[in-house]
Amino acid sequence: MTASAGQKAPSLSVISKQGTEYKLLIDGVSVALANSIRRALVAYVPTLAIDEALFAENNTSFYREYIAHRLSLIPIKTDLSYEELADNFFEPKREVSMVLDVKSDGNMTVYASELKFPDGQVATTHPKIPIISMVKGQSLRVELTARMGTGRQHAKWQPVSAATSINYPMINIMNESCGDCKKCVDACPTGALGLVDGKLKVIDPLACTLCEACEEACPGVLEVKSYPNRFVLSFEVNGQLDARTALMAALEILNRGLRSILSQLEVLAYEKKSD
Ligand code: SF4
Ligand code: SF4
Repeated sequence: MTASAGQKAPSLSVISKQGTEYKLLIDGVSVALANSIRRALVAYVPTLAIDEALFAENNTSFYREYIAHRLSLIPIKTDLSYEELADNFFEPKREVSMVLDVKSDGNMTVYASELKFPDGQVATTHPKIPIISMVKGQSLRVELTARMGTGRQHAKWQPVSAATSINYPMINIMNESCGDCKKCVDACPTGALGLVDGKLKVIDPLACTLCEACEEACPGVLEVKSYPNRFVLSFEVNGQLDARTALMAALEILNRGLRSILSQLEVLAYEKKSD
């Protein structure tokens, strides 16, 4: 995308990363584009998930449906580049077989670490997820197939969860000198405002939820608005992909879809000219 004259070029930067949780700043885009990126990240980026379970043996206390459901929600490592992920969005190809084979000689918990790829590597980034508990003498053997799919089909394929895109807050303070008054600071439920040397300041703009409680506490002095083209994209990666690959795949899938429409429009324009 290129910026038109006088318009800021779109940009993306990392605001924070805490464990698997990310906050990114997307600047210079419309609300429609920011939301398209969020939706593509949730629903279009394909990942591997267990999609078929054939039970050869199960004398545990758990129903096959229960075990299959738990297995399907374990994030399976999807070691593909963003281009390969985009290829798999348009034509899912990847499929991996696994066997879960456990015999118990005492009370035990079966963890996700028992799920192994054919090369022996643990198949998940969350090996401590418990699947079932077993007692002495019980056995479980399940032949599994993991397939590529997207969050549009089922949440088990979503590479991220809790994905939100909110406008970046803009809080205008018309009069900073407030003395001992801190009515709006007390009214703010998130601690976004604070008094520094008797002056009202926005001390944590990202904590602001645009609730307008401060504006109501001091009308005419505080004004809560938001930047129309600046957004905070927050999400948590589920474990199949790293955040960078998931985001690049989302953008590549959007890009390929739009390029496809563009090339069809070019054909239409050519046909019109040659009429
Ligand atoms: S902005 Fe208004 S409510 Fe807030 S501290 Fe100043 S005078 Fe008090
Ligand atoms: S809009 Fe709400 S969250 Fe934001 S600073 Fe004002 S009171 Fe706090």
